[in-house]
Amino acid sequence: MKTTPEKISTNIILIGYRGCGKTTVAKELSTILGNPYVDTDEIIKQQVGKTIAEIFSDKGEIQFRQYERSVITDLAQHPPKILSVGGGAILDPQNVTNLRAIGTIFWLQATEEMLRKRMEQHQATATDRPALRGDNPLDEIAELLVKRSPLYEKAATHIIDTTNQSPTEVAKRIIELV
Ligand code: ADP
Ligand code: MG
Repeated sequence: MKTTPEKISTNIILIGYRGCGKTTVAKELSTILGNPYVDTDEIIKQQVGKTIAEIFSDKGEIQFRQYERSVITDLAQHPPKILSVGGGAILDPQNVTNLRAIGTIFWLQATEEMLRKRMEQHQATATDRPALRGDNPLDEIAELLVKRSPLYEKAATHIIDTTNQSPTEVAKRIIELV
């Protein structure tokens, strides 16, 4: 089945933990649908002129969350067709409300093991990520996943298990659902 952009009646919003494939799938959707994609972390990086890791270390997480909230509020006025949202954005209920109002939210899910593997393989994720706390950074991934999974689930319109799916398969599944 060939899908044309005009068949997509909703905006597509991708959420999920770092490394789940939001940016990769957003690019894939962009290629298939012919619409540009927007990534909140990219906007924040451009506006502040620093990497996400630098913003966390120089200004702190609270300041980063304020930038993020402001970017999402602005995007809600002019929603893009394809949007990928930083992993922690759904911690803020106001962000979830804003995102729900502008599109269909897909939680890209993967097993913890797969997320670790993708993060390790991906150089940009390895270098441009907020400093992980504690002696064992890998413990924090597990901890954050436990804390955030119920929030991703609650925010999501659809949940997609990407563990054994290629980015193209994930994008196609999303298009089937909208
Ligand atoms: P996010 O934007 O959610 O942090 P990325 O899109 O940057 O995640 O993906 C992180 C890494 O995982 C990249 O190296 C990417 O190529 C890889 N990846 C993403 N989705 C998949 C997938 N479905 N299957 C295999 N590798 C993937
Ligand atoms: Mg990303």
